[in-house]
Amino acid sequence: MYDDRPPDMAVRYRVSSIGERVAILPATCKVGTHSLARVGYRAQASELEGVVRVSCNACNEDVDVDHFWALTLTGSAPARVELDDTPYLGVVPVMVEPRPRHPG
Ligand SMILES: [Zn+2]
Repeated sequence: MYDDRPPDMAVRYRVSSIGERVAILPATCKVGTHSLARVGYRAQASELEGVVRVSCNACNEDVDVDHFWALTLTGSAPARVELDDTPYLGVVPVMVEPRPRHPG
């Protein structure tokens, strides 16, 4: 399911108003066609590799080679996770199969 391709970027974090460390994951799948909140996703973190892989359920069902983001983890484990594309605007994903992006 997952391979050891190079990470696309580092996970973005923020600190909530009550001081929690919150990890922010992209809200759109790597292919750029699905909202992860809508179709569902799987996030699998590997402490050993320091990477979290975020797989789009819709792309995974279609066995798209680019069904998952690979994001580098930094620092201590977050208290919770949010989905937001904003911190990732401008990030160019490392695609196995390059294609035009159609966000939304
Ligand atoms: Zn998708």
